[in-house]
Amino acid sequence: MELSQSTEAVPDLTGAGGRFQCPACHGKFDHCTTALHPANARWYVPQDHKPTCPRCAAPLEWKRLPEPPQLPQDLQGIALGAAWALWITIPPALNQWIKTQLGWGFVILTPLAVIGLFFLAVRPALWTTAGQGTGHFVLARSTASSRRKPWMTLLSIVGFAGCYWATPQDHRLTVWAAGFGLAALGCLLAVAWRIRTEQGLRRSAP
Ligand SMILES: [Zn+2]
Repeated sequence: MELSQSTEAVPDLTGAGGRFQCPACHGKFDHCTTALHPANARWYVPQDHKPTCPRCAAPLEWKRLPEPPQLPQDLQGIALGAAWALWITIPPALNQWIKTQLGWGFVILTPLAVIGLFFLAVRPALWTTAGQGTGHFVLARSTASSRRKPWMTLLSIVGFAGCYWATPQDHRLTVWAAGFGLAALGCLLAVAWRIRTEQGLRRSAP
């Protein structure tokens, strides 16, 4: 007896169809699945949804073509270090001033400004949706090892925080404000650089 079965419902395991190809199992697919990364993390470790292959569950990374311009690794490290250093050295005097002038809740504005500057300068690839635009998938771990260079980050944290803590109490607010100003300037330069690079890419794009 023959079952009335639609052949379309059976997943195509030959890997013949699909817009994308998995770099791990070479299977083809139209839509990637997502999984939380890192898996089984403690509550304090931030997790995010990473694209995975629907066939072999390999963690994938979407590479857009052309790749949106990113700051060089070292500069990204310095930006992270600077943001970190500014974050941990927010002067109590500044918080006190904000509390008396604007109110309790506005104290959060300072760390928010630091995070905002960092995101503007580095523009982490959080907002690129997997599978959108022209591009292909690569294995996520093939790039993960080369991504972070902690030295520049550590150096800029130690450099700035060291300066801050070596400064007498009375002048710390000034030192911090100078650091924040420099960070804002660096952020502006990074944004200007990115706009110019993007324009260049668009001009050379076919
Ligand atoms: Zn796969």
